[in-house]
Amino acid sequence: MKVLVTTWDKFKVRYAKILKKLAIFCLAFWIGIGLFRISTELLFEEIPIFGFHDIVDLNNPKEQPPNRPEFSSDYTKADFEIFLTQLVRKNYWFLTSQDLYDYFLSDTPKSLSPEQRKRKKVAIAIDDGYQSANDNILPILEKLDRTYDTPIKIVWFVNPAFMGIPGTYLDHASCEDFRIGLEKGYYDIQSHTSNHEDLTQLDAEGLTKELLGSQQLLRECTKGLDPKGQVANHISYPFGKVNKFVLKEVKKYYRSGYLYNGKTFRLDWFRNRYFIPRMTVSRSHTVKQLLKMASGGWL
Ligand SMILES: [Zn+2]
Repeated sequence: MKVLVTTWDKFKVRYAKILKKLAIFCLAFWIGIGLFRISTELLFEEIPIFGFHDIVDLNNPKEQPPNRPEFSSDYTKADFEIFLTQLVRKNYWFLTSQDLYDYFLSDTPKSLSPEQRKRKKVAIAIDDGYQSANDNILPILEKLDRTYDTPIKIVWFVNPAFMGIPGTYLDHASCEDFRIGLEKGYYDIQSHTSNHEDLTQLDAEGLTKELLGSQQLLRECTKGLDPKGQVANHISYPFGKVNKFVLKEVKKYYRSGYLYNGKTFRLDWFRNRYFIPRMTVSRSHTVKQLLKMASGGWL
């Protein structure tokens, strides 16, 4: 009996030691992860790129149920205006897709002025080109310009085959709508492919139609308003889907590609101009949360 107790005691001691080592290892591991995250956050600047879809006016019955179904990706006009106003007041630099490319992604990046270096940066992207988004956003941009003398830029990723065409639920803004926003200096018009198809399901011919086709349609639409040739040089992948073959084709026509993956774009060594992350925005986000995301705060 005495021998049995001793063996059991020994086992307990050994078991406790193993548990202690395991606990120390786990603690060290998590501290390491934490330190790595803090150091990367401190070392590398982040540029929040927000991905919005439709912007809806709660005061417009046509944009409310039962006239229009609600979608999780909707964002209200009122909150969108407050969000942009706060960013303008905080002197954020609203980057275009060409700015992002020129200063942060090109093989020979443009150098930033001390003023540009100091400013907080942000990019606001709107996918799918809905009519209500256009109708609600443009007056906000005009108002901000009038109030703060700051013409801010919004990046539109448009499916040109749908321009001016009513959708099953949501209508699409027309070519003329985009021309107006571009001419006023607020819109950066880029491609979201022609018909919003899953690119990973297409063959070479289908990809050419979606990639080159959308580029040609957008440039045709904006003819005479794009002296610097900045329209449709960049793309956001429908459904955020891209694979090796798609990428090879995309590189023939576009300088950069945007994902929709809920991640922050960080200026680290691993950044890739064809896998630019964007933060997803839904109706559940408060303005306070968006501002925190913009400032690089952890939610
Ligand atoms: Zn889309």
